[in-house]
Amino acid sequence: MRREMDQQLLQKIARLKDERGAVILAHNYQPGEIQDLADFCGDSLGLSVKAAQTDAETIVFCGVQFMAETAAILSPEKTVLLPDKSAGCPLADMITAAQLRRLKQEHPDALVVCYVNSTAEVKAESDYCCTSANAVEVVNSLPEDKRIIFVPDQHLGQFVAGRTGRDLVLWPGYCATHVVITEDDIKTARAKYPDAIVMAHPECTEPVKALSDELLSTGQMLKFAATSTAKRFIIATEVGIIHTLKKQNPKAEFFPASDRAICPNMKKITLDKIIGSLEDMQYRIAVPDPIRVKAKKALDRMVEILPGR
Ligand code: SF4
Repeated sequence: MRREMDQQLLQKIARLKDERGAVILAHNYQPGEIQDLADFCGDSLGLSVKAAQTDAETIVFCGVQFMAETAAILSPEKTVLLPDKSAGCPLADMITAAQLRRLKQEHPDALVVCYVNSTAEVKAESDYCCTSANAVEVVNSLPEDKRIIFVPDQHLGQFVAGRTGRDLVLWPGYCATHVVITEDDIKTARAKYPDAIVMAHPECTEPVKALSDELLSTGQMLKFAATSTAKRFIIATEVGIIHTLKKQNPKAEFFPASDRAICPNMKKITLDKIIGSLEDMQYRIAVPDPIRVKAKKALDRMVEILPGR
């Protein structure tokens, strides 16, 4: 019965999508059925590139606010819709533009690199944006004598500092979904599946990363699993990625490091909300021009720098 209903909803989405000339983009942390219906599913970097390249007039962004904002900044001529306007990212809200301006005053010669998980106003105050896939490459591309402020995620920042050997000024932001994964979770999972490879996202805490085999963005996890000879993997990131990992690697097994690593905001998007979004062309995400133009410079630099793996 549920399956039949979902089929009807999917048919309705397909029809509305055609009528609106829309493309549906979904993040790897979305619920499985949303990832399956999307025209493109990926990590923040992949989605940003798609948003900039698509010819579609309308982008339905199945993700959170900052992702839809990023699409609106890169493609201002397009209509960008977020099916649930309350789908935010607590990490992105951990630093305001005013706080970043104060930090810049304390380090007047520093360049600012901001993680794409940030508001448009914070991006507008930054020199470069990065995602977890290319943060190391972005920082490595900057002059060695330059001090770098890195906001807002302290754990991604520490990972980048370790990989680049650069002394970064960090902001104490964090992702509540990733920091719930503990050292004990990794130890327990390793004891249960001793032959498994542990893949952790750089937003995890330092002790969790120290116990992991591979530190990867979600897009990099998909690539790694596809080419690895291993058959079992422990996944230390939001559990949504496991849906695609299983789909793309039917012979391998994937286990979440913690069942608690669920982002409630990512799970706000539903089939019904996508229909409502396409029917009523809501919720439209637009960024005022003075902020958009400044933020785009930082984002253009992010899209130009490809990840190393
Ligand atoms: S998983 Fe973390 S960083 Fe990603 S949207 Fe949710 S709260 Fe934000």
